[in-house]
Amino acid sequence: METHTELAVIGGGPGGYAAAFYAADLGMQVTIIDAAPKLGGVCLWSGCIPSKTYLHVARIMREAGDAAEFGLRYQPPAIDLAALRNWKDRVLNREGDGLALLAKYRKVRVISGQARFIDATTLGFQTASGAEERLTFDYAILATGSRPVRPRTLAIESSRVWDSTAGLMLPEVPRRLLIVGGGYIGLELGTVYAALGSQITIVEMSGSVLPIADADLVKILVKRLGSIFHEVRLNTTVTALEEAPSGIIAKLQTGDRSEAVEFDQVLIAVGRAPNSEVAGLSDIGVAVDAKGFVVVNGARRTSCPNVFAIGDVTGEPMLAHKASHEARTAVDAIRGGSAVFEPKAIPAVVFTDPEIAWCGLTEASADRDGRQVKVARFPWAALGRASLMNRMDGMTKLVVDPSSESIVGVGIVGVNAGDLISEGALAIESGRRVSDLGMTIHPHPTLSEATMEAADSYFGYSTSIFKPIRRD
Ligand code: FAD
Ligand code: NAD
Repeated sequence: METHTELAVIGGGPGGYAAAFYAADLGMQVTIIDAAPKLGGVCLWSGCIPSKTYLHVARIMREAGDAAEFGLRYQPPAIDLAALRNWKDRVLNREGDGLALLAKYRKVRVISGQARFIDATTLGFQTASGAEERLTFDYAILATGSRPVRPRTLAIESSRVWDSTAGLMLPEVPRRLLIVGGGYIGLELGTVYAALGSQITIVEMSGSVLPIADADLVKILVKRLGSIFHEVRLNTTVTALEEAPSGIIAKLQTGDRSEAVEFDQVLIAVGRAPNSEVAGLSDIGVAVDAKGFVVVNGARRTSCPNVFAIGDVTGEPMLAHKASHEARTAVDAIRGGSAVFEPKAIPAVVFTDPEIAWCGLTEASADRDGRQVKVARFPWAALGRASLMNRMDGMTKLVVDPSSESIVGVGIVGVNAGDLISEGALAIESGRRVSDLGMTIHPHPTLSEATMEAADSYFGYSTSIFKPIRRD
C-alpha cells in the first residue's frame, strides 16, 4: 500500500514530535514514523524522564536524611524496588499517552515501523502485521536520535554489564557498582544507585568528572560526591572486563599502574553515537561526517534538499531541548522562512546533587578561544534561602564581555540549578547587560537572588558579600 504525506518525520522523540506538532499547528499534513511502539523517543522511554523520576526519589531520600540536622528524625526508608519501577512506568505511560493524544488532536498520523529511504520522496516500512508499505512525502525530517557507545575493549556479553537503558530498568540494586564514565549519565545514575544503597566506583579517563563544565563549579559538586560515592578514579580507563563466578573483574589502568578489581555490576556510560545508519540515506545524497552525524546547514537542511535533520543525529549537544528547538527551525525553513539555528545559549543541566547548569560561554571555553571575559561569582554561603535549606554548597557565576558588559555565559552549581539557569539563558539570548540582572528585583528569600547578587558583585556592591572593588 502507498500513502502520501506533506511532511514525514522519522523518529518520534523530542525532536520528531516537536517538529510534527509545530508543522501540524501551522497547517501541514504530517506523518511520524517511529520504530518504537509509542511516541517519546529515548528521552521519554530510556533517558530524561526515567532518570529524573528516580533522581526525584533519591532527592526525597536525601532530604529526609538531612532533616535530622533540623530535629526531624525519620526511619531509613524501606525501598520497594518493584513499586519504584512501577511508579516510573506510570510516569512514562502518562507522558506517552499524553503525546499520543496530542498527536491525535492535531491529526498527525503516527506509524510504528522502521523507516528506510527508497528514494528522495519515498519511505518504506513494515507494519506490525508484517505488511510492506510505502509513504511518499514532499519533505522529510530525520530525527532518529542516538544510542549508547560501547568501547570494543568492553564488549562482553553479560547481564552484569549494563548500558544506560538497562540500568534504568532498575533490575536490582548491586552491592558494588562500577560506572565507566564520569559524565552526565555516570554521575546521574551513580546518584540514583548510591541513594538505593549501591557502593559506587566511578572511573573517568580524563582529569576531572564532567570535563565539559567549568572546574570551579565541578569542584563544589565533587566535594559532595565524596560523601555519596565510594570512589572516583580519574585519569583511569577500564582496559578489560571479565566475567567471574561472583562478579565482574575490571582491569583498571591509571598511568602505568594496573589493577584488577571485582564488582557485582558494571554500567558503561562513555557517550552516545548517532542513529544515522538509516537504510537508503546515503543513496538519496544525505552526507554524514566522520563521526556519523548527519551534516546539516543552519536551516537544518541536509545535502538532499527536501530532507532535514534535527536532534542527536546531527551532533552535540545531545540534549532534548536542543532537538525540540531545532525542530522549529527545520519546520520554519520548510514553510519558506529564512530560519537559522544559531542559539547563543543552550542550557546544559546535570541533575546531580547539587545540580550543575551552564549556558552560553563557559569560562574555560572563553579561555580556549582567547576571548577576554570578566567573571563575577556569588557563593551561596551568603544566600539566605541556601542557608535555611542547609544547602550552601552552591555558586552562581556570570561570564561577562568587559567591553559591552553584556552577559555571555552563566554557570550555576547548587540545588535547583537546573531551574535557575533559564534566567541566564534569557539574559544571554536577549543581549542583556550585567547591570540589567542587578537592577531586576528578585524575590527574597529565594535561590534566584544569587543571580542578582552575582551581577552586583561584578561592580563590587553585592549586599550579601563584602568584596569591594577599588575605585580610586
Ligand atoms: P531520540 O529521543 O533518540 O528519538 C529518536 C527516535 O527515532 C526513537 O524513538 C527511535 O525509535 C526512532 N528511530 C531511530 N531510527 C529509526 C528508523 N530508521 N525508523 C523509524 N524510527 C527510528 N537530555 C536532556 O535534555 N535532559 C535530560 O535530562 C536528559 N537525560 C538523559 C538521560 C539518559 C539516560 C539519556 C540516555 C539521555 C538523556 N538526555 C537528556 C538526552 C536526550 O534523551 C536526547 O538528547 C534526546 O532524546 C534526543 O532527541 P531526538 O529526538 O534527537 O532522538
Ligand atoms: P558524556 O559525554 O556526558 O560523558 C562520558 C564521560 O566518559 C566523559 O567524561 C568521558 O571523558 C568519559 N569516557 C569516555 N571514554 C571513556 C573510557 N573508555 N573510560 C573512562 N571514561 C571514559 O556521555 P554520557 O554520560 O554517556 O551521556 C551521553 C549524552 O547523553 C550526554 O553527552 C548528554 O548529551 C546526554 N545526557 C544528558 C543528560 C542531561 O541533560 N541531564 C543526562 C544524561 C545524558
